[in-house]
Amino acid sequence: MISSQYIAIAAYVLAVVAQICAAVCALSLFFKSKSYRLASGALAVAFALMIGRRISPLLHFYADAYYNVWDALLALAISLSIYLGVTQFKKIIFELELKNFMLDSDAKTDSLTQALSRSETFVRAELEIERALRNRGPVAFLMLDIDHFKNINDEYGHPLGDIVLTNLVKFCQEELRVIDIFGRVGGEEFFVVLPGDGADSAFEVAERLRKKVLLSPCAITKGKEIFISISIGVASFNPISHGETKAGVVLRDFYAKADKAMYSAKSKGRNRTELWS
Ligand code: GH3
Ligand code: MG
Ligand code: MG
Repeated sequence: MISSQYIAIAAYVLAVVAQICAAVCALSLFFKSKSYRLASGALAVAFALMIGRRISPLLHFYADAYYNVWDALLALAISLSIYLGVTQFKKIIFELELKNFMLDSDAKTDSLTQALSRSETFVRAELEIERALRNRGPVAFLMLDIDHFKNINDEYGHPLGDIVLTNLVKFCQEELRVIDIFGRVGGEEFFVVLPGDGADSAFEVAERLRKKVLLSPCAITKGKEIFISISIGVASFNPISHGETKAGVVLRDFYAKADKAMYSAKSKGRNRTELWS
């Protein structure tokens, strides 16, 4: 028969161990979690302080041989529950942070082409215009639209049209710098922001994109290579010659200008670049 004294000591020792584990778990959450640092930090401190509460009955036992078996079992039950709770809390927080991260990247990128989403494109474009206004340097905008894309869908089907869109984005991104912004703003319409580029260099970039797309097969079906062409409108903003100082107004204005230039390229026969003037 195990005496109640041993049961009490074992329960107190296990309670100390469970309490230390709970404090360590909360501390690791404090270091790893980005959004719940205050909550996990407070829990880590509280659990660490409670270790003292778990040790004091043991000290009491060694000092004057006093123990209370029910108190020991209760301490063990409390510490185990805390440990179990904090491990579940940690799991939930990690899952939540992962989901938030995935939702955030879903909102920022277009799921089909992996280009930037429309909203993210505008957010970044506005930041780039703010920078241009501060530095008093130019920034250029391109509007790209696939020529007769409806015919591609009608002739080869939507799934192939989707492949064409994805490859178009890939070809364009290969030609652009990492600082350039490339976003899908409509079904087969793409908006590009070229920080630091004036009208001439933006026109050159647009022509490079147009030629790259024209000469690269965007899909293959039944052994046949599918080629497309694009029309591009270019508009360049220069804070020195332009009076506007609000980034949002500049963006709306130059988005419309690049779009008009793109429609001018369409009306002049497509597969060409037009500069807004
Ligand atoms: P234009 O040269 O005047 O631009 O002619 P278009 O045929 O390209 O223009 P229109 O606006 O008539 O057609 C755009 C087509 O783009 C119609 C639509 O079915 C297609 N489209 C839009 N989004 C997607 C998509 O996500 N996948 C596919 N496969 N097609 C799409
Ligand atoms: Mg089109
Ligand atoms: Mg279109």
